[in-house]
Amino acid sequence: MQRLADGARTLGIPLSDDQLSAFQIYYETLIAWNARVNLTRITDYQAVQVKHFLDSLSCLAGIGRAGSPPPWQTGTKLQAIDVGTGAGFPGLPLKIVWPALRLTLLEATGKKVEFLRTLVARLELAGVTVVKARAEEAGRDPAHRERYDLALARALAGMATLAELTLPFVRVGGSVIAQKGEDPSAEVAAAQKAIETLGGRVRQVLPVMVPGLDAARHLVVLEKVSPTPPRYPRRPGMPAKRPLT
Ligand code: SAH
Repeated sequence: MQRLADGARTLGIPLSDDQLSAFQIYYETLIAWNARVNLTRITDYQAVQVKHFLDSLSCLAGIGRAGSPPPWQTGTKLQAIDVGTGAGFPGLPLKIVWPALRLTLLEATGKKVEFLRTLVARLELAGVTVVKARAEEAGRDPAHRERYDLALARALAGMATLAELTLPFVRVGGSVIAQKGEDPSAEVAAAQKAIETLGGRVRQVLPVMVPGLDAARHLVVLEKVSPTPPRYPRRPGMPAKRPLT
């Protein structure tokens, strides 16, 4: 996990030996399960460290305020949900470096949920809940709706769809961090109205350098400024089939 250790230090997140062992277990479990459950195309030891682990940790650049100590170091107990987490990205790497984070991993596919439950148990992580549901359904469930300080999403959907699948989970005052690749300004501009309809506002589009990747990636940070109207999210499939305009 040398690549991860070096890269994380560059990101300002020094990792302990215990945290590095947790990532090693994560890697081994991911590869073992990937033989029978389709979790990732990225399996190379170096590539997983960069494209999954460091890329997930780069989300931390969008969290907290300039001038304040970073919340993952101060024991801040944010309640976060990772929507469409797949094999746990970006939520689980964040949890490993931020033990006080209360994390819900939301995933619709049963086999991936089984993997996540096994991994969370193996890592002995407290304060992680794995939920098998579609975001369109969980987002209407009072147990989850407007219950989170932070929603995370990587590779979930285009911006308007993503906004409908994430903003309903966030309480007013909370935020969404969407991880995107190349400059997503055009995509964000096109989704501006959808974001407002759902109670959100674009706070920033932040370029981030992931150590080991050549091109900058981008975080789209939304803030929740008013409650999501009751008719959103629409029924399963609709946010992707007919993105709000
Ligand atoms: N975030 C992970 C996985 C991205 S692939 C990563 O970046 O590696 C998108 C994942 O979201 C898939 O696992 C898919 O099953 C899940 N997903 C897609 N739409 C969803 C929805 N509406 N509700 C819940 N999960 C969803």
